[in-house]
Parts: sequence; C-alpha cells; structure tokens
Amino acid sequence: MIRITSTFIFLLLFLSPTIKAQEAETFIIAGLFYDSQENKLLKDRMIHIEGNKITKVGHRINIPKGSKVIDLSDYTVLPGLIDSHTHVLFDQEPLEDFAEHSISTLVLESPALRTLRGVERAKSYLDVGITTIKDLGNSGEFLDVALRDAINEGSIEGPRIFAAGQIMSGQGGQIYGVRKKYQEIVEEEYRIIKGPADAINAVSEHINQGVDLIKICADNLPNNTKLTIPEMESIVKTAHRSGLTVTAHSVTNQSAWDAIKAGVDGIEHGFFIADSTLSLMADKNVFLVPTENSLHYMRTYYELQGKDPDKLSWLDRYMKDMRERLMKAIDKKVMIVAGSDNYTDIQVPRGVSSRDMFKAYYESGMKPLNILQSATYLAAKSFNKENEIGSLSPESYADIIAINGDLQNDFLNSIEDVVFVMKDGKIYFDNSIE
Ligand SMILES: [Zn+2]
Repeated sequence: MIRITSTFIFLLLFLSPTIKAQEAETFIIAGLFYDSQENKLLKDRMIHIEGNKITKVGHRINIPKGSKVIDLSDYTVLPGLIDSHTHVLFDQEPLEDFAEHSISTLVLESPALRTLRGVERAKSYLDVGITTIKDLGNSGEFLDVALRDAINEGSIEGPRIFAAGQIMSGQGGQIYGVRKKYQEIVEEEYRIIKGPADAINAVSEHINQGVDLIKICADNLPNNTKLTIPEMESIVKTAHRSGLTVTAHSVTNQSAWDAIKAGVDGIEHGFFIADSTLSLMADKNVFLVPTENSLHYMRTYYELQGKDPDKLSWLDRYMKDMRERLMKAIDKKVMIVAGSDNYTDIQVPRGVSSRDMFKAYYESGMKPLNILQSATYLAAKSFNKENEIGSLSPESYADIIAINGDLQNDFLNSIEDVVFVMKDGKIYFDNSIE
C-alpha cells in the first residue's frame, strides 16, 4: 500500500497530463502518404490520432510533449486495405466439390466449431495489412455477424468485418443436386426467396439479425434457378430503405443485366458480362468486384488438384478473357472494387491467399495506384463507409498501414512488404524499426 504523501500528490498532478497524452494521442510521420480520395502519393504528411480515430492530417502538426510518435518516414503510409469479397467461415480443398463440401460443413461441423475455425482465418487478414473485409455469405446462420461482434468487443483479434449474413437466392441456392427432402439443410446457408413479399421478410429478418449489407445470388449456376426481377426489386427497395446496400453474385450476362435493372449497387464476378451491361453499370454507378486470380494462383490451384497446369489448354484463353473484361470495364469507367473471393485452401494463410487479388489486377493491366484506390476509398464508398474507413482523413477510424518499397515502380514486391499495421488506433504489429 502507498502512503499518500504530499510528494506523491505533487508527482501525480505533474505527471497526469503526460500520462493522458501518451495514452490517447499518437502522431504518425509518413514518408509518403497515400491520399486515397485523390489517388495520389503525397510527401511529408503527419497524422494525428486520438483514441481510435484520425483527428488531423497535415504538413506540420504541433506535437505536444509526451505524445507518442511513430516514425514511418522511410515508408509509404496508407489506409488499411479492404477485401470486399471474403468468406471467412468457409474453406475448401482444391479437389473438393463445392456442393458436397457445403453439405458436409452444414451437417458435420457444428456452428461453434465452424466459427472458431473462422477466427484464425479472419485474423490472418491483419497480417497482410487488410484491416477490413466484406464477408459475403457462406457463413451458416449469421456466424459472420457473431464473428464481427466478437472482434468489435475485443474478445478476439481480427479485421473490421461487414457481414452479409445468409445469401438471398432462388430455390436451392448454390448447393446444386440436393434432393427435395434435404432442402432444409440448404436453408441454413442460404435464405431462399419465395416471391417478392417473402423478399421483404427476408431483408427484415437480416436487418433484425444485425447484417451490414445484403448479398444476393442473381444466378445460382450450375444450379439452374435464380431470383426473379420482382424479387430482386423487392430486396433492393427494402434494403435501401434501411440504408443497406445490395450486391449481386452474377456469372451470366443476363443475370447481371436483370440485377442492375432491379437496382443493385454492385456486381460480384461478372465473368461473362457483355459490353452493353458494362455501359449500363457505368450509367447507373454500379460497381464491379472482379474476383479472378493471378496466373500463379491458378497454376498452384490446379497443381494441388494433381493436374499439370501446362496441359490446361483453356487457361491462357481464360486469363486473356478476364484481362480484357477488366480493361473494358475500366475504359467504360465502371467503378472497380477489389475483392478476392478466395476460400480454397492453397496451403497459405487466408490473408496471404486473398492478397493474390492485387497480383491478378496488376497482371490484368491495372495501374498500382488504381489498384490501391479499389482496395481503399472505392471499396469503402461502395457501401457508403467512405467517412469511416478507406481513407486517412479526419473522423476516419485509425486503420493505418505502412509499406516498404516503391509502390508505383515495384508494386508486387512492395504490396507484400507490410511493415506496420494499426487497426482502430491499436498497433497490431510494427516492424518499421529493424
Ligand atoms: Zn464469393
């Protein structure tokens, strides 16, 4: 026990402002600073952080004595990166069939075990500088919402999660081939929509369960069922009324066209999207999340399946088609949002696997800064969160990373050389001082 003496009180009075400053105020000195809104790299910027928010960004900010200063003057400082298409509660081996694996997950894996297995996957995003993920379903009955809440309350470490809950879809969801008798199992993973009135109920249920956005399947291929245009319109109207955005999984051109006509905010994949549909997207400000992979990823995936990638006659053609589709979308000024959709176990942590999207976009001809903007400001804007995440601006959360190397001239190496990660004002790791 401490006997309170006058000296002690004096010390307490003298030290307390300093202690407070150390706890609450942090200053980051950035070598290069990525302005994600303007899509520019700026020199000599400082960031003032109080608690979990950025309060000020400027050339020269007065640093009060005793404040914490993080010197990142040798690095490029960016907003934490965003992967806008993840499935942290789903994992599949390269040889497994999606439908069979989905059923076995639902039948043989308890929701508790499934969620716990997702914890490590979620955390691995922070290791690569991805501080926010949009988790788009295949997460059982709102297990993504549970994971988000556990992270937000500090019970576990992980990125910011924006959760979609169950994917809304036509009969059978994406789990093809399930006998009628067992369709109830599918309904744990997908919210099957039975008409426009039911679509309103579905969105209400999701809002009640605390989702952050709505994900729909505009088509269910290879399951040949899909949502109707009136069902999608119902979903969009109800979601928008509550301030939620709607994004649509779409493989075929027709389903993308229908979803856009129904008013969705974004299209995921859009593998076979026609030029006219891209033009419609640009007109209506509908974003595209291209989820293709790099050539290296594709080769690894097929090698793990026991195939010789050199003998895959279609692979070059596929890569070329995807490149052309992305370049056309960019030419037509469609908003591109970065999303990986990587859920196959290619024997690296999930965050590392997801980072492959940067390589894929780069190989497709996207410029480094445009890729960064798609993974920061545009990703945030795509679901109305640009005032909270995706940029280093006052009032944004202090989700800040630093990268070693030259992002513009050596993009692929530097994007993988993350030396500092802060999320919500807390340092997750700092390797900036060797
Ligand atoms: Zn997906």
